[in-house]
Amino acid sequence: MHYDIGPRSAAAFERARQLMPGGVNSPARAFGAVGGTPLFIERAEGPYLFDIDGRRYLDYIGSWGPMILGHALPEVIDAIVQAASRGTSYGAPTEAESRLAEQIIEAVPSIEKVRLVNSGTEATMSAIRVARGATGRNKIIKFSGNYHGHVDSLLVAAGSAAATLGVPDSPGVTPGAGGDTIVLSYNDVQGIVDAFAKYGSEIAAVILEPVVGNMGCVPATMEFLKSLREQTTASGAILIFDEVMTGFRLAMGGAQERFGITPDMTTLGKIVGGGMPLGAYGGRADIMNNVLPAGKVYQAGTLAGNPVAVAAGSTTLKILKEDPPYAYLESLGDRLAAGLGKAATDAGIPHTVSHVGSMVTLFFSPDPVQCWADADRCDREAFGRYFWGLIGEGVYLPCSQFEAMFFSRTHTEAMIDQTIAAAGKVLRSLA
Ligand code: PMP
Repeated sequence: MHYDIGPRSAAAFERARQLMPGGVNSPARAFGAVGGTPLFIERAEGPYLFDIDGRRYLDYIGSWGPMILGHALPEVIDAIVQAASRGTSYGAPTEAESRLAEQIIEAVPSIEKVRLVNSGTEATMSAIRVARGATGRNKIIKFSGNYHGHVDSLLVAAGSAAATLGVPDSPGVTPGAGGDTIVLSYNDVQGIVDAFAKYGSEIAAVILEPVVGNMGCVPATMEFLKSLREQTTASGAILIFDEVMTGFRLAMGGAQERFGITPDMTTLGKIVGGGMPLGAYGGRADIMNNVLPAGKVYQAGTLAGNPVAVAAGSTTLKILKEDPPYAYLESLGDRLAAGLGKAATDAGIPHTVSHVGSMVTLFFSPDPVQCWADADRCDREAFGRYFWGLIGEGVYLPCSQFEAMFFSRTHTEAMIDQTIAAAGKVLRSLA
């Protein structure tokens, strides 16, 4: 499948490569996994992205998750403009921070107290430090194919761009930084039981994506989540749900509300900032009271609780609460997943479709995907051709087999059907 990238994007990428490593500020967006030149974006509106060559794409990444209400929603933009007009940063407390904290605490079952930070990475890094500080233990458990940002101790067997590029461990992460990280296979209950039998009293925390977005969409089984809850409670380890992707997306209270399993701590990002740089971590009050200045675990940030980011996040959560899009997103997710599955079947392409709510992945593998070893068997080359075929049809997917598709409240049934038809056309050309 060949696609002629617009001349302006091509020139912009050449220039960017002289100035930034790989021409980008975050690796996934360089399109390395699918081979080719990234589209340079000029603006976005509702469900659409517009590139600098004036081409329009139906957007299925939504900034990799945040844009659940669609791009440039007037209420959110107004809130940002109003906040910015009062000054962009004070380094002093504001009432707006308490409002956002209250909205998060009210929505997320596990969170009694919360800290605002600037990104998902900061949220997970801080949560791990607090868990270690609170328990006085060192070891953490993570699962292969789960991505928690570029935190040294978590950059081991990570998903997302790291998995895509086949670089599970980054140079620059010392053996010391990763040495207390135990990596287990996702959805493997026996693995958990064995690890706790061996290391139980040394384990500070278990961190996981309750529905993984970073090896494609892969949900945890109920059995796996229940076992994690039981094992951590029995040993006194802290269970951390990384809901940076799933928070305020799979339900107002995230995957924990959906599954009815309450962790001890939760990390948030993406939607909670309404498309501005903002993350959060929180949990039981007795755990969070370990954070300075209430307790002794150090964590800080010059721009943490930034008034402009808080305004965008707070407005987004207010709209989600007053006019919940979840039933609608659920029905669109069902429609998209069923339609893509049928299109692949009709085209004779071996595949598996996985989806939860508004997270959907068409895996180019005939077998169910429950862990990284399953995901790793997918036909990446076929995915690359599928991706470029859909770009040619004006549909912008995540540029990796190992990232979930996201859509927003501004996507319509007609757009989903149009996407399915486009996917069918591309899949038939691949067969
Ligand atoms: N956790 C999860 C589950 C994520 O998906 C991501 C980012 N994709 C992160 C953490 C890191 O967030 P950020 O990119 O904002 O640092």
